This record gives sequence, C-alpha cells and structure tokens, in this order.
Amino acid sequence: MGVEAHKDLLGSIGVDVERHAKMMGMGLEAYKNQFMSQENRPKGMEYFDWFMSEIQGQRIAEINQLRAEKKPAVGTFCIFVPEEIVTGAGGACYGLCGGSPATIPDAETELPRNICPLIKSAHGFKLQRTCAYTQSSDFIYGETTCEAKKKSWEILAKHHPVHVMNIPHMKREKDLRMWKEEIVEFKEHIEEVTGKKLSLEEMKEGTRIVNEKRKALLRLDALRGMNPDVMPISGKDGLFVVQMGFLDDPVRYTEKVNELCDELEQRVRDGVSVFPKDTPRLMVLGTPFAPPNWKLHNAVENTGGAVINEESCIGHRYFKDNVNLDGVNDEDTLMERLMERYAEIDCACFTPNTPRIDKIVQMYKDRKADGVIYYTLSFCHTYNVEAHLVTEALEKEGIPCLVIESDYSPEDAGQIKTRVEAFLESLTFKKKATAFKNK
Ligand code: SF4
Ligand code: SF4
Repeated sequence: MGVEAHKDLLGSIGVDVERHAKMMGMGLEAYKNQFMSQENRPKGMEYFDWFMSEIQGQRIAEINQLRAEKKPAVGTFCIFVPEEIVTGAGGACYGLCGGSPATIPDAETELPRNICPLIKSAHGFKLQRTCAYTQSSDFIYGETTCEAKKKSWEILAKHHPVHVMNIPHMKREKDLRMWKEEIVEFKEHIEEVTGKKLSLEEMKEGTRIVNEKRKALLRLDALRGMNPDVMPISGKDGLFVVQMGFLDDPVRYTEKVNELCDELEQRVRDGVSVFPKDTPRLMVLGTPFAPPNWKLHNAVENTGGAVINEESCIGHRYFKDNVNLDGVNDEDTLMERLMERYAEIDCACFTPNTPRIDKIVQMYKDRKADGVIYYTLSFCHTYNVEAHLVTEALEKEGIPCLVIESDYSPEDAGQIKTRVEAFLESLTFKKKATAFKNK
C-alpha cells in the first residue's frame, strides 16, 4: 500500500510522483527511526503508525473520493478556518504540508529568505507539487493573521485557488461583528463548491463531530500532563497524534484517540510510565509544530526530559474550546456561536493578548510542570515579540523558562540539544535541592 498503490491517482491530481515518492520514503524512514524505535509505546499507537504509512496514499484516495461525490476539500494553514462547516457539508478540511526544509529552496525563488519557514515550506510544496493534500484541495483558505502570510497568499494564488479570510487583530465589538460576517462568507464559498445550500442540521452535525474530536484531544492532553508520577505516552507520540488530527477523517480519528486514551487510563491505573520517575516535565509554548518538525521534541526526549503538552496551535490552543450548541435553533445563532468559539483562540496576532499569558501560568500550575520552553520559528514576529511579556510573567511566578528560536534546517539541532541539556540539568538540580529542603 502507501503512495506506490496510489501512483495513478497522485499523477492525475498533478503530484510530481517521482519526487513525492522520494520525499515520502525519507519521511517514513525518519518516522521509523524517531518514533517506532521508542520503547514501551502504547498499543493504540499502531493505528497512527498505519496512518503515517498511508498519509499520502489511502487518505488522499479518501479525500478524492469525497470530491468525486461533489463534497468540498479545503486546505488550510491556520486553526481559524471553521472546519465545522466543511465537515457539515460532508467534505474534508485539513492542514497542508509546511514543516519540511526540503521545499524551502524552491520557495525562495518567489518569496524573501527572511520570512517564517512554515510559510516558505508550504509555498515550496505547491511549487514542487509534492503535497498531495494541496493538490487535492478545491481551494486553500488563507487568513490575514500575520504579515508574511497575508502577502504570500497573493503569490500562492498564481498557482492554486486561494480564498482569504479577514481575521481581525483586536477583539472589540466591531471586530467580532466583522468576524461573524467572514464565517458566513466562508459558508457561502463552501455552498458554491457543492452547488447546494447547507442546512442548519448539517452544520450542527459538522460542529458536533469537531466538538467530539476536540474533546478526545483534551482527554489525551490531560492524560499526558496531569499526573506527575505517571506519563503513559511520550511527548513525541502525543505530538504526532495531535498532528494527525489535522489530516485524518474526524470520526475515525476521534474513535482512535479515545481508544488510545482508554489504554492510557489503564496505564495510569497500573503505574506504567514511559519515563523514569523524576524525569523533568516540560511544557512547550509558542508557534505550531507542522509535521515533520519534531526537532525540539527529539532534543528534549533524547536528553532525559519529557514534553507533557504543547501550548501551540498544533496542541492545546486548537482543542481548548468547543462550540456551544445549546439552544441553537437558527443559522444566525450558530454563526454567532462559531464566532464566539473562534474568538477564544489566543494567537499572538491579537493585541492585547493577555488571556494567553494568564492561561500559560495556570496550565503550568495545573500540570505541576518543572519548566517551560518558549519555542518560536525564526522571523515569526508576533510570537517572538510576545515572548517578552510571557517570559516576564513566568519570571514573576518563578517558573524556569528557556527560549528557543529555530527554523527547519538540521544545522542548529546540535546547539538546541546542548541548550536543552543544560536546562534539564538545572531543573534536575533544582528538584533535588527542593526535595532535600523538604526532608
Ligand atoms: S499561530 Fe496564529 S496564525 Fe498560526 S496557525 Fe495558530 S492561530 Fe493561525
Ligand atoms: S509561525 Fe508566525 S510567521 Fe509563521 S505563519 Fe505562523 S504566525 Fe505567521
């Protein structure tokens, strides 16, 4: 199976089949070495290993089957796109490839060098035609969150249909009114693709499906981080499961995440931890980790630490809030509730963004974590600048923090590992000193 079995389909949607197969081969090899070699993995990870092997194969066939049935396929780069509406229309809404350094040189033929690697990587995937998700999408839904993204859509639109959603940068009454209108417009775009009007019931059903997915992820998040004595799954596996939530069929995915959580609950009851007692437990904050960006998690977990959650869009920021469907009996109320839910997202593109800072401190306390790593992609101005206020708040609370800025190149992996190692050593020392003092 895998991409080989779907070669004809991949060619028919414009994928550069040879280059794509080579990239997938390398990606699978990296996955095998970095993930499948871990000891004592939960059995529930077998599904996600299978999904990885079919990530650009069977899943692409499923999406193209939906398109053949006139269902929408929408590619995105941001968690502001209301996937509930696409799901309600029976279609697929998914994140596009944007985590690999391999496509960046191609992107730099059209984009400046000094912008965020996520944007360049995604743009390069389109130029190379090596992301089957991009090739399968009716259109890409962009947003106006950061300057680099906002402008790069105009260039991406030369190669693929792109619609842009105007996301406000403040959350005043008038901003929220405009935001609701954008969601209505998004729904109308989806209706254009399907050629039929979406009913309230369909959209509510789509919302229920996505709510269930987020609930399952919240359950996983709690199992990863809330018990200081037992960590039943590695941070790498936890991250990978969340990453796949942006690609998989939401109903099947939710079922598999819940099955995994059942197993993890049993592990917690039995005291089965994948890390030795007293392993420093870290929270990771900041920009999203698009696959295969596993650099930081590898650095932490290969040097004696554990990542217990990601305060990131591929992480807690994505699943922390759900859409309240209570008493929703008309479309206008549903649009209002969707807007309310999306306005809870605390992306650094907003000013001010104080709820994010309060949330981080609270998350740290709830999880009894030992430290945090503030991670930003190079040239991501919003998260880089916001780091000042976040680290200031952490310092006030006496929370140890390491700031790391990185891109996708392998060159700084050694330096990151050394810095993480030193940070972990200081945390271990602090832990021992506290235990001694409390004796
Ligand atoms: S960090 Fe902001 S812009 Fe980026 S995916 Fe998250 S919400 Fe969207
Ligand atoms: S990581 Fe930052 S710069 Fe990159 S796309 Fe997201 S918000 Fe924009």
